[in-house]
Amino acid sequence: MSDRTPLMAGNWKMNLNHLEAIAHVQKLAFALADKDYESVEVAVVPPFTDLRSVQTLVEGDKLKIKYGAQDISAHDSGAYTGEISGPMLAKLKCSFAVVGHSERRQYHGESDELCNAKVKAAFRNDLTPILCVGEGLDVRKAGNHVAHTLAQVDGGLKDVPAEQAETIVIAYEPVWAIGTGEVATPEDAQEVCGAIRGRLAELYGQEVADKVRIQYGGSVKSGNVAAIMAQPDVDGALIGGASLDAEEFVKIVRFRD
Ligand code: PEP
Repeated sequence: MSDRTPLMAGNWKMNLNHLEAIAHVQKLAFALADKDYESVEVAVVPPFTDLRSVQTLVEGDKLKIKYGAQDISAHDSGAYTGEISGPMLAKLKCSFAVVGHSERRQYHGESDELCNAKVKAAFRNDLTPILCVGEGLDVRKAGNHVAHTLAQVDGGLKDVPAEQAETIVIAYEPVWAIGTGEVATPEDAQEVCGAIRGRLAELYGQEVADKVRIQYGGSVKSGNVAAIMAQPDVDGALIGGASLDAEEFVKIVRFRD
């Protein structure tokens, strides 16, 4: 077993307003309070408008739950209407910024170059990027899923130094499994997560590669999480739909129980 602490992160996508966010985090805190969850890192990734409410709750109640943003601007300030910068997220004490989620790549045309600039913006502001990579169904059917995903890893990490790269989180999310109920088999997840670690070793050396946490994402639920987490190169999960149900998210977090 690796000594990488698993990271279970709930991506709420565009759901839950700031009042609903408070109720939801309170439920999570209550359900996780009876047991020491130091061995698993738990994070929520709400919409931007919820972050201040989540911060107040987490700080006020000294909760161990961490939080992050679903996106980050490549720029730190300026005339970029509608964007949210790294310094703003750092001021809200976010721990994470998701970069290159497939929905950003698909609906907002985010390229590997832009993701690379966002990864750098996160690091510049002491935020841990969760870089999302993964193939669509056509690529998977053509058998090019590993090469496609590794190219996204290369693009996202271009010119990122080893001392930053070793702290990144990479989420392997096959697009065909996101929000579809179609889950990759544990072997599918391991094949690509293992290849990602191999590429990190080529880029930065084995020691750095062994430190990086690689998550699987795509229709993770309480019923399939344990088998996925049993894979040697899977160090956590990025959970979308199922993270909106507090009870279900807690069951996922407690995959070891
Ligand atoms: C996600 O949004 O990153 C995700 C994995 O979604 P879901 O769990 O709903 O497939």
